[in-house]
Amino acid sequence: MLLRCPKCQQPLLQENHRYLCQNNHSYDIAREGYVNLLLVNQKHSRNPGDSDDSLTARKAFLEKGYYQPLADDLVSIVNRLFDDGASFLDAGCGTGYYLEHLINNADRQLEYYAVDIAKKGVAMTAKKNKNATCFVGSVFHLPFSDESLDGLMSVFTPYGAEEFYRIIKKGGYVIAVTPGRDHLYQLKSIVYDEVYFNEEEGYDLPGFRLIDRHNVTYEKTLECYQDIETLWRMTPYYHTTYSGNNDRLKKYESLDTVIDFLVTVYRKED
Ligand SMILES: [Zn+2]
Repeated sequence: MLLRCPKCQQPLLQENHRYLCQNNHSYDIAREGYVNLLLVNQKHSRNPGDSDDSLTARKAFLEKGYYQPLADDLVSIVNRLFDDGASFLDAGCGTGYYLEHLINNADRQLEYYAVDIAKKGVAMTAKKNKNATCFVGSVFHLPFSDESLDGLMSVFTPYGAEEFYRIIKKGGYVIAVTPGRDHLYQLKSIVYDEVYFNEEEGYDLPGFRLIDRHNVTYEKTLECYQDIETLWRMTPYYHTTYSGNNDRLKKYESLDTVIDFLVTVYRKED
């Protein structure tokens, strides 16, 4: 059994509409099909993670296909790395866009799990991905047994290096996506007086070896101000920028920009 009870670490088994451990800790499956495995002391706020509004906007943005080349790249990586039946976690699933794309397009039939700290995002993910086990939780306290997963992906989201090391099997994989050097350069050059390229940073994962690193880079026309604003809000820049500078984007009804992802694959040492 892969899942473990967040309270006592004993195996967690599904029983009708709930998950249960041998110490009778019980977690109900919500109507939308997910289960909340986040303990109160693992929350930083009452409703942690991305806000409902930003998740709704992000979902609409992603469904327009702006990031599909990245989703396609993840499909080809999964096809290359895994066999049928491999267990795979989307660690920080957001709205579930990449997971849905994987489930619908990968040649392999994996056993999918998804976690996010934002309940609304997990509900969206569960609704779209009935075959995935979706739960609310923190990437720093994952309710998986030691060395139980064949792989995970972490797309533009915080990561827990120690937890990843603990839950991934020897020889298993972590796929990380972070901003590439040129990501959103045109948006940044409007907002900032002085614009820099991004520092390309992968993950610091002790016990893992880097086996592949490549960029997914393309140009895209953002087709309306709503899309420009949503994309900018999806970045960490939005919150660290003086709002008057963010407002500079308001005069654009469309905008061409480079989208640039750094995709890094790590393998846990035997
Ligand atoms: Zn328990």
